[in-house]
Amino acid sequence: MNTSWASPEIIDFLQMLKKGSKLYSILTGSCPKCHEESMYVSKNMYDPSETIHMHEHCSHCHTKYKIEPSFFYGAMYVSYAVGTAFAIAAFIISYLIIGSTLSTAFITIIGALVVFMPVIMRLSRNIWINFFFKYDSNAVQRKPEV
Ligand SMILES: [Zn+2]
Repeated sequence: MNTSWASPEIIDFLQMLKKGSKLYSILTGSCPKCHEESMYVSKNMYDPSETIHMHEHCSHCHTKYKIEPSFFYGAMYVSYAVGTAFAIAAFIISYLIIGSTLSTAFITIIGALVVFMPVIMRLSRNIWINFFFKYDSNAVQRKPEV
């Protein structure tokens, strides 16, 4: 790959987004262990019945996503943090960059949280599950641990 156009910082950043990094799995919603396929049944997170509809297992490495009953309840704690980050971003864009009034900025925050709710829900699950799994480049070849 010709990367002469990119500064070392940009190259570092792109490395972080490649397969094998937690950030890759978090941003793409791919299996936290092998990064080979999406954990979600549908790509369309804005279909309410599909937002958190996940496969049971990864078909590549057979990782069971829901390691224990109600495992993803923990993602609620993460979604609090992710939601706050979105709210702060909406506030900065609306109030500080565009220069809207405080009340408009407040409405913008609510609007952003509603519009990005599916994104926040999936991101939270992706972050949560990545606390418990590590990328394993050999996961696909190994015998499934069921
Ligand atoms: Zn997998």
